[in-house]
Amino acid sequence: EWTSLNDLRESYLKFFESKGCLRHKSYPLVPQNDKSLLLIVAGMAPLKPYFTGQEVPPRVRMTTCQKCIRTGDIENVGKTARHGTYFEMLGNFSFGDYFKKEAIAWAWEYVTEVLKLPLDRLHVSVYEDDDEAEKIWHEEIGVPMDHIVRMGKEDNFWEAGTDGPCGPCSEIYFDRGEKYGCGKPTCGVGCDCDRYMEFWNLVFTQFERHEDGTYTPLAQKNIDTGMGLERLAALMQGVDSIFDVDTVKAIRDHICKIAGCEYGAEYKKDVSIRVITDHIRAVTFLASDGVLPSNEGRGYVMRRLLRRAVRHGKLLGINGLFLKDLVKTVVDCNKCEYNELEEKFDYIVKVLTTEEQNFNSTIDRGMKILDEYIEKLQAEGKTMLDGESCFKLSDTYGFPLDLTREILEEKGLSADEEGYAVCMEKQRETARGARESQGYMGAEETVFHKIDKNVSTKFTGYDKTEDTGVI
Ligand code: ATP
Ligand code: MG
Ligand code: MG
Ligand code: MG
Repeated sequence: EWTSLNDLRESYLKFFESKGCLRHKSYPLVPQNDKSLLLIVAGMAPLKPYFTGQEVPPRVRMTTCQKCIRTGDIENVGKTARHGTYFEMLGNFSFGDYFKKEAIAWAWEYVTEVLKLPLDRLHVSVYEDDDEAEKIWHEEIGVPMDHIVRMGKEDNFWEAGTDGPCGPCSEIYFDRGEKYGCGKPTCGVGCDCDRYMEFWNLVFTQFERHEDGTYTPLAQKNIDTGMGLERLAALMQGVDSIFDVDTVKAIRDHICKIAGCEYGAEYKKDVSIRVITDHIRAVTFLASDGVLPSNEGRGYVMRRLLRRAVRHGKLLGINGLFLKDLVKTVVDCNKCEYNELEEKFDYIVKVLTTEEQNFNSTIDRGMKILDEYIEKLQAEGKTMLDGESCFKLSDTYGFPLDLTREILEEKGLSADEEGYAVCMEKQRETARGARESQGYMGAEETVFHKIDKNVSTKFTGYDKTEDTGVI
């Protein structure tokens, strides 16, 4: 079946090779020589110097399938059909070569002639001031006006990080049908629900954003496009979400097998299953790119994703270490494109399992303390655990609030979440005060956890950099 995720990646890259683009394999998730970004969030990010003219690209036309991590989407994961923190972005790029007309025409050719997606289900958006793009879509491509919407800066102006190339964009949406809609009368392209799924963003990179928030026109006009591979596969496979796509579903099914549960039986469990499915992909690729769990920067992103996966495993009733089994499935599904996964398999398992064990000890310790709190609570005939205790559990013992809540609920008790929030705010303020009086102490500082010492000698892929926690 050529609509498998791995075949779609190939089909896209081949198509743009036929348009003269140089194909390049994915760059690592860790930005190289770029302090403005923690992790790669889009296909264009590793190519920034080519857009600005700082460096000469190997060819003025390129195409890639880039590994991406967007922690900004963490709350969406498991709840929408279309967001992962980890995903792959297909892209075709022009550095001062082809521009709007070709970018639009080729995208349309790929979507309608290669993929053969039905015309009446396709919609496009353009930036509110971009008459030129609207004209191309309508007059040259023939998209009817009622399938073109103008959108504002929030949706149709693309920029990443504090500086770098950016510009107005035009997005392609697929109408998946009423059954995916929110049903509101205002529902349409740009609605937050999953009916009109944005799957391709064409960015007309004409400006450079500077750290002070100003924009200047770039000497050359560029093209940067990004299409989510998992979203594309979901559309082509006619499935409900990115978690039903062949290579992603394999992981999801493996989790169900370990947990002894069925996908689709209970909403809350499905969310947990999807969260683990996404996060195990993210941390596997982070480990393979040399990131180690820590308390700072990208190491912290990794720690957070990994612990979240373990925590949702507990919610599903999984006992014992389970990440290593899942890593095997992630590697098997992705090694045809990312063969380094197989080479680094033992290393990845070691990194993830060490952190998983650490977190399990934290949880065990937290459980003991929580049990004591519960006993006291019940002895006093109360039903709500005070905010300060909940906060102490998470702040001092690393025992997360939602786990506290979950356990309390099982016993017919509850957590004082408002009280918790008050404690949290108080602590934030103290921290803010401390930061202001001592000067900023953030990205430059790395707190190496003991895990780092255990495994750091095994990986030699990158040089040690002082601000990243990457060895
Ligand atoms: P959305 O509005 O759905 O959050 P976006 O506008 O933030 O998407 P872009 O920044 O335009 O996304 O990225 C280009 C493409 O990458 C999107 O059109 C989509 O196909 C894909 N994409 C973006 N974010 C995600 C994600 N979290 N998970 C999977 N694919 C994504
Ligand atoms: Mg988004
Ligand atoms: Mg969008
Ligand atoms: Mg977009």
